[in-house]
Amino acid sequence: MARLMEVTFLGTGSANPTPNKAASSIVLRYGDDLWMFDCGEGTQTQVMKSSLKAGKITKIFITHLHGDHLYGLSGLLCTISQSNQRTEPVSIYGPLGLAKFIRVSLGLSRSELCFRFKVIELQPTDDMLKIDDARLCNISSTDTPVLHPCEDEGRIVHHTMVEGVPVWTLLDTGPLKVRAGKLDHRIPSFAFIMQEDMLPATLSVEKLREFGFEPGPICAKLRAGESIKTPTGVSVTLSDVLGCTHPGRKVVICGDSCESSAIASIAKDADIYIHEATLQNSLRETAVERGHSTPQMAAQFALQACARFLYLTHFSQRYTESSRKKKEFTVKDLQKEAQQVFGPNCAVAQDMLTFTVKPPK
Ligand SMILES: [Zn+2]
Ligand SMILES: [Zn+2]
Repeated sequence: MARLMEVTFLGTGSANPTPNKAASSIVLRYGDDLWMFDCGEGTQTQVMKSSLKAGKITKIFITHLHGDHLYGLSGLLCTISQSNQRTEPVSIYGPLGLAKFIRVSLGLSRSELCFRFKVIELQPTDDMLKIDDARLCNISSTDTPVLHPCEDEGRIVHHTMVEGVPVWTLLDTGPLKVRAGKLDHRIPSFAFIMQEDMLPATLSVEKLREFGFEPGPICAKLRAGESIKTPTGVSVTLSDVLGCTHPGRKVVICGDSCESSAIASIAKDADIYIHEATLQNSLRETAVERGHSTPQMAAQFALQACARFLYLTHFSQRYTESSRKKKEFTVKDLQKEAQQVFGPNCAVAQDMLTFTVKPPK
């Protein structure tokens, strides 16, 4: 049986959180594990509003270090710590500099956690660094870190080139592998690509019928390892009635970006491709200037990656769910703009939207 895979959007707004849209955060549920992607200000409140349990979060991925994706992290870690004396460690992944942010914010606020954590930082490629970086942010991979008392030593991940593009391998064990790819934004920004292993074959009703059986209690017997005799005396076991194995599910979660072509090959055939669409198509110039995308751009990137379904998120707070004035642009209008390019398999996210990523049939 494939594990349950669910995506929940906790916050779908860009920049500051408002009562209408919370700041960026997405949770991927995989079996009993919760993995969080970005943790904007107020995310812990959004977790409380949802049916998700903060204490179940085992991994946190930060796409980039802008506040609307990061400012909720230290508070969330403290909330996780209050959850039933949980002791399971948390791994936190994100761009170089993330460890410093966590150490300083937890350290200065004298916050102790009841679990261990470690930070795995992605070293951006040189072309991801912008001129302003050195002025505003003084970090280097050669700094000698002083770890927080609850912190285990993490590591810095460098890219390797795969099919001509940089790829950061973050998790290559377990049933769900994670790699990261580069985006183009005002500061280094990453997309995370989650690829599930091949799914085991399930019992095929057609094959069962070929032996003259109908689905029913017999399936449980076969699964329990019994062999069943056909009326003609042929002995049938589970392996005789299994269908094909299926490729596992693939989910792509992109950080802020105005150019996502570099992930097209590693994101290829994603079942779910989540991309920002901060501003409407007519504001493309402003969007790109600020390192963001329009629905049309997001749809084009998803098409390049042959994605099966596109979700848009990270909307400017100017867009409401429904228009009060006739000419006001709404989030649904953003969806229409993307659908004009991508077709119907595309939707806009909203805070607290949850959907299941189903295994292929
Ligand atoms: Zn943002
Ligand atoms: Zn940003």
